[in-house]
Amino acid sequence: MDFDIQKLIRPHLKSLTPYASARSEFSGTAKVWLDANENAYGTPSSDTTQSYHRYPDPYQKKLKARIGELKGLSTDQIFLGNGSDEAIDLLIRVFCQPGIDNVVTLPPTFGMYEVAASVNDVAVHSAPLLPDYQLDREAVASATDNHTKIIFFCSPNNPTGNLLNPDEIRTFLDSFQGIVVVDEAYIDFSDQPSFIAELKSHPNLVVLHTFSKAWGMASLRLGAAFASTEIINLLNRVKLPYNISTLNQEVALNILLNTGQYQISINQIIRQREWLANALNSLEAVHKVHHSDANFLLVKFEDAPALYQFLVKAGVIVRNRSTVRLCEGGLRITVGTESENQALVKAIRQFENQYLKKSRIA
Ligand SMILES: *Cc1c(COP(=O)(O)O)cnc(C)c1O
Repeated sequence: MDFDIQKLIRPHLKSLTPYASARSEFSGTAKVWLDANENAYGTPSSDTTQSYHRYPDPYQKKLKARIGELKGLSTDQIFLGNGSDEAIDLLIRVFCQPGIDNVVTLPPTFGMYEVAASVNDVAVHSAPLLPDYQLDREAVASATDNHTKIIFFCSPNNPTGNLLNPDEIRTFLDSFQGIVVVDEAYIDFSDQPSFIAELKSHPNLVVLHTFSKAWGMASLRLGAAFASTEIINLLNRVKLPYNISTLNQEVALNILLNTGQYQISINQIIRQREWLANALNSLEAVHKVHHSDANFLLVKFEDAPALYQFLVKAGVIVRNRSTVRLCEGGLRITVGTESENQALVKAIRQFENQYLKKSRIA
């Protein structure tokens, strides 16, 4: 396949000179920093350890070095953003001409692809998943036209929880002349290898990871795009200069050194996922627990809207997906701690006793 990134970029970005921040123009060591209009006297806080008066590293070099180690990548193949949501938005802004280009998504899937496209006035073409939640190759092919710049594959998929068949994704990596995004927000909970290994052979591939899920850093807002150096350079060119705070860079770096703790927590979540799937399967109100390669379960219920309201009243909040096509009757349930999962199952039993039995008698 002859892939030409120059043909994909929005024309006006080819000549755009990015904002050169003080910290990106000079990156050596110095004694006197008078280049960025910071407060040289420090942060006016009584706590002297609170030192936030310098702008952060715009390219997060230390943090990227650690992430590169973990993922087997060089730092110039890594973009870091304010959640992977930032990477999704930037990919659309870099490649899609508003009002002209489009992206392809495979619903039911993560809502941010469509939101980010719509905010940027970029059309969304749908290629719905098959009833077994696998990708429909023909539907994807026919949703794709000359103005399709990006196809978003989400694997494991949110909200269905399953991995997409990697060979099906590969057919598009091999044939599609635009950008193929594989969003692997939940890959840590599956037993499949990451598509990162295929970056070398596929210049059109962008892999998205997030630190919000398995790494437990949702409040920090840290996500990553992995791709060719050319694509990473483009994202860097349009991003806000200081998109990740020093505080977040430092805290994330510390956490990313704890690979032992990370593995323990994933094992716990997977064990709880299996426990919860079994417990739910034994309940009368449950029609189907879908197989999950992620940290949540899509579960079809006898009367999902009523159960959802019942759970809200019981103080247990799950995600109501019952009106989403192919998820009818479905609630998406995040795997919680052991006691949270037990509380959920107990509440569903109460629902069965109070509501289902009554509605059957009536
Ligand atoms: C949670 C999630 C993300 C991550 O979003 P962040 O902005 O990094 O928190 C990305 N993709 C999918 C499919 C998700 O479910």
